[in-house]
Amino acid sequence: MGNSGSKFQDVLTFLQVQSNKSRLMSLEMTYKAKQGHIAPDFSCLDILTVLYFSTLRIDPANPKLSTRDRFVLSKGHAAGALYATLAAREFIPKDWLDTYQGYETRLMGHPDRLKTPGVEHNTGALGHGLSVASGMAAALRQQDHGDIVPNVYVLIGDGELQEGSNWEAIMLASHMQLANLTAIIDRNGLQQGDFVDSTLALGDLSAKFRSFAWDVSEVDGHDHGALMEAFTPRNCTHGAPRAIIANTTKGRGVSFIENQSKWHHKVPSESEYELARAELLVKIERGSSSE
Ligand SMILES: [Mg+2]
Repeated sequence: MGNSGSKFQDVLTFLQVQSNKSRLMSLEMTYKAKQGHIAPDFSCLDILTVLYFSTLRIDPANPKLSTRDRFVLSKGHAAGALYATLAAREFIPKDWLDTYQGYETRLMGHPDRLKTPGVEHNTGALGHGLSVASGMAAALRQQDHGDIVPNVYVLIGDGELQEGSNWEAIMLASHMQLANLTAIIDRNGLQQGDFVDSTLALGDLSAKFRSFAWDVSEVDGHDHGALMEAFTPRNCTHGAPRAIIANTTKGRGVSFIENQSKWHHKVPSESEYELARAELLVKIERGSSSE
């Protein structure tokens, strides 16, 4: 492997370790708060880590920079994943995580842009993020940012796609040729209470987005290299909006939490917390030792 190859491998190793460090933060926050959404957090933490450490044009020291890329967490119940990532990226102090969902906290159970630096939009009522992100993308391309066209990324849960409002936005974004809009689908096959296919099946999502004239790709949502490539920023105003179907495992990272409906909103017992923490620490240490 050449020098550039080994540097890329270093980046992948960093992202892998950071994703698991953020999972550990989400676990600890949820255990302490006695509420939260561990499995939805773990499902999307490779995606958030790649976005915040590799893709997005952002500046933690200037979270309102006008030319910044925007990220909207439409599956707002995964707020713990977003807060862990914002802390890791130094948008917020790490000690804020200890106050997650507590009295007078700045880290609510769902994202609140007036309380938390780096949060672009309040979410949690599902099915709205894509509409908001489409509006952001349309507005940003009308503004004069010199040679820069800020990109908007939105992460949508697969269960959330059962909300009809998404399909209005999917139709509109295509009609408006929002080339600076990327929708990422966290395709873990589960939603609150059951599997998506048992609740209201989505069928062939790629074919559906393509039928609305979107530019569609499918990736392994835990493969940092594949995510980096899929998220490559665009710098054009008009063209097909981009949909990335990220195939994920809900609860990814801890064996007994993976792909289990009950972990959508479950708080670990003390023994479950210790077991989960131990699994993540092994992964973090193994990754760090290969850096
Ligand atoms: Mg899901």
